[in-house]
Amino acid sequence: MKCRTRWLALGVSLLMFSFDLAAAEKRRHDAHVHGIAEINIAVEGAKATVEFRAPAESVMGFEHEAKSESDKKKRDAALEQLRTKGGQMVVFDPKLGCKSSDMKTAIVETKGEATKAQSGKEAHKDQKKSGEHREVHGTFTVACDKPLAGSRVKFGVSKVFRDIQEVKVQVLSDSGQSGATIKKDKGDVKL
Ligand SMILES: [Zn+2]
Repeated sequence: MKCRTRWLALGVSLLMFSFDLAAAEKRRHDAHVHGIAEINIAVEGAKATVEFRAPAESVMGFEHEAKSESDKKKRDAALEQLRTKGGQMVVFDPKLGCKSSDMKTAIVETKGEATKAQSGKEAHKDQKKSGEHREVHGTFTVACDKPLAGSRVKFGVSKVFRDIQEVKVQVLSDSGQSGATIKKDKGDVKL
């Protein structure tokens, strides 16, 4: 019974989380900025679900559909990085004894115009050539020995994918919702 209540609570938070993601989805239609990724962390006790989203160009170097052998190789290599490196990209406190699952990945075609980054330098290069946009989405779960509340998370996203300069992080937990912008892996986020 106890277990069941916990799962119910998890379901509720995931529901809240997806409402939030729906809002993010809406925003994304008019914002696709190269070099900027999004990470959403839903915390439930000693477990967390991490969602990662980034423009495909920042992950595999292009956004058109991979048709040539060389593009397919680049795509597969990037997805393989992503699959195995979730735990290096989102680093939970080692004291908590967390284990990350493999990341499940998908390439998603998106609509809408690319927008310019604040600096203007990261503007979508092939914006005029085609309206093709793709994002890489990934999800993995984390199971720890101790509850995650109050701990801090560090990031190694730019170390794995050099073209990602900035990550917009959102955390949803029992204690509420918070967010932070992590630039080049600097700083951390409290759960
Ligand atoms: Zn793009």
